[in-house]
Amino acid sequence: MTSVQRPTLASPLRDAVGAKTANALIEKLGLETVGDLLHHYPRRYAERGEVSDLGALEIGEHVTVAAKIEKITVRPMRQKPRSKMLEVTVTDGRRNLQLTFFNQAWREKQLTIGRWGLFSGKVGQFRDKLQLNQPDYQLLAEPGELADSDGSNALAEFANALIPVYPAAANVPTWVIARAVRATLDIVADVDDPMPEGIRRRRHLIDLATALRAIHQPTSKSELYQAKHRLKWDEAFGLQATLAKRRQAASARPAKARPSRPGGLREAFDAALPFALTAGQADVGDEIAADLAAEHPMHRLLQGEVGSGKTVVAVRAMLQVVDAGGQAALLAPTEVLAAQHARSIRAMLGPMARAGELDAAETSTRVALLTGSLPAAARRAALAEAADGAAGIVVGTHALLSEGVEFADLGLVVIDEQHRFGVEQRDALRSKAGRTPPHVLVMTATPIPRTVAMTVFGDLETSALTQLPSGRSPIATSVVPVAEKPAWLARAWQRVTEEVAAGHQAYVVCPRIGESLAGDEEEEPDGADDPNLEPPPEDDAAAKRPPLAVLDVAPKLAEGPLSELRIGVLHGKLPPDEKDAVMADFAGRRLDVLVATTVIEVGVDVPNSTAMVIMDADRFGVSQLHQLRGRVGRGSAAGLCLLVTDAPAGTKARERLDAVASTTDGFELAQLDLEQRREGDVLGVAQSGRRSRLKLLSLLHDEELIRDARTEASTLVAEDPELNAYPGLAAAVNALVDDDAADYLEKT
Ligand code: ADP
Ligand code: MG
Repeated sequence: MTSVQRPTLASPLRDAVGAKTANALIEKLGLETVGDLLHHYPRRYAERGEVSDLGALEIGEHVTVAAKIEKITVRPMRQKPRSKMLEVTVTDGRRNLQLTFFNQAWREKQLTIGRWGLFSGKVGQFRDKLQLNQPDYQLLAEPGELADSDGSNALAEFANALIPVYPAAANVPTWVIARAVRATLDIVADVDDPMPEGIRRRRHLIDLATALRAIHQPTSKSELYQAKHRLKWDEAFGLQATLAKRRQAASARPAKARPSRPGGLREAFDAALPFALTAGQADVGDEIAADLAAEHPMHRLLQGEVGSGKTVVAVRAMLQVVDAGGQAALLAPTEVLAAQHARSIRAMLGPMARAGELDAAETSTRVALLTGSLPAAARRAALAEAADGAAGIVVGTHALLSEGVEFADLGLVVIDEQHRFGVEQRDALRSKAGRTPPHVLVMTATPIPRTVAMTVFGDLETSALTQLPSGRSPIATSVVPVAEKPAWLARAWQRVTEEVAAGHQAYVVCPRIGESLAGDEEEEPDGADDPNLEPPPEDDAAAKRPPLAVLDVAPKLAEGPLSELRIGVLHGKLPPDEKDAVMADFAGRRLDVLVATTVIEVGVDVPNSTAMVIMDADRFGVSQLHQLRGRVGRGSAAGLCLLVTDAPAGTKARERLDAVASTTDGFELAQLDLEQRREGDVLGVAQSGRRSRLKLLSLLHDEELIRDARTEASTLVAEDPELNAYPGLAAAVNALVDDDAADYLEKT
């Protein structure tokens, strides 16, 4: 291969390594090109001289451990006396691991006491001892042995202080990969760095070739850090460039401007409001008013703590659109919430919502409620009002838009309490209004960690309501550990009784509906169709008995500690009219206690309720608990939330509950939630089961880098939307996004 061209990143692997190795890498690891191999990064790095913790091994696992050889025995095998068994004991200094080889006595010469190596195989057990049967291994040189190495030394790929340990496969151990990488790095042609030089300089990025070499063969931790930083940057930048392109494309589309109109409904609504807007509500309101007045579609995410008053902001935006001659749709995640919104918006608007009726205000519109469970006649009427434009505001569930509901002139879509609304759905929504897409406002009370806002929601503008309306009372949260303090549970029911005696109401929340409905212990958690719900984190608490159920707990309370109180039951499987009736009874104070599933998690607003008891609280996620307790303390009386659990002190589950009890700062809790979930779940790549090109970037640890990449990518895309001046970069961005970022963006 003298004058032959050197392989590039795009060349097939066979151009860089031998056919046998190339085949193994393609078949077992899906690495097709030189670039694929060089982007197959080590999973971790063993430090020279460091040993693996042999106590952490689990039987059945395929492992690569670093350890020192302590003892060697050769002995004849019992059944076949002429065969020999070689037993090698390696140690981490405290624990031992046995390696066994059959009829390979020659290995005795290689495996000498005191040598250090990597051993790779499946962990088995023999007579209480952990062992690797016929492991692959790679002995590592002591530093001195390499002093005059000319590269021909078989150990040279491990010459550095940090030894790469690769995600490996059966029969392709980590050192085979290391060797292939080394061979490739030796002959690969100069790598053109697609990242513009200005960006590299400003952001202190080393060049791509150096980074690729250093991530595989770092000579120091700082070099490794630089390499990772650069390669993470490429991932973050690719993602952000894609998002910037989406934003640009979206805002380049035309929309109908809906400027505010003096003397319209919004002004009348403002004048009639029984309270002053908070500064945040006013500011966000101005931002939205300006967005709506523009001739490009608004795509805005409004984050606001539970109870921060997002509904008022939404109603004002909707009225501006109605004033401008258009219609607005308000989508809620559940029918309960949709019905409640319709009720409370009609109440807020009063005569302004009764156009066509005798007592209508001079300027007025109508509010239509459209849910799947409406009686046929009511549904026909609502559909007609939406279609002929009589209803300025149409409230429904998310199904509203997929059900072919016609609007006369849909100008704004508000999506309430939704933080898992994927890019795909957002796109479907935008296409709904035909050639002129509506303005879109997404509202969520689940605080979104900044990095998630910049990635998963990176195609939206964001605003936040950070303060609660004044006069709101604090929520006191306590953990009730029934295992250690059984008496506290009785005290909890006593507190509920006291709250009711003081004229207030209470919720009791359970993780499950109950068997009598499905007859199945493994019944889906209630609201499984509700995309806001998270499965509870799986950890120490999740095993044991099935979680408590509404249909079991309610009768026990009614016969026992709460026998004096009026108890209602609410869950997702109730027929819709029954659900409505229960909610109306609770709102109308005809019930004292509502025993419910997480259907009440989002948006339910009954300001008179002051206490919440969450049963089996450890079965819920952090954000979910925070959402749930936001249902109390919405009025002027102080709120109380009791987290009942039988998880023992010192477990992860208890730590989580203690964290929820210790702060009401939603952003802090969101961060905690992010830390406790596996990163893959957040990024959505775990489910896709495909190899991701977003390998290094972490939403948890790389906030600054993601922010910087966002700044640079936005600037570049603003100047050159198709990145025509940077073809290499455009290709890199597309490669990243075609494969994975679509998942990354949509599955979350
Ligand atoms: P969320 O942001 O959780 O959706 P809501 O919109 O349901 O909050 O508002 C919670 C409660 O606060 C409602 O009863 C609402 O009428 C009230 N509210 C909203 N804004 C203010 C304000 N500026 N001052 C006082 N009360 C307010
Ligand atoms: Mg709300």
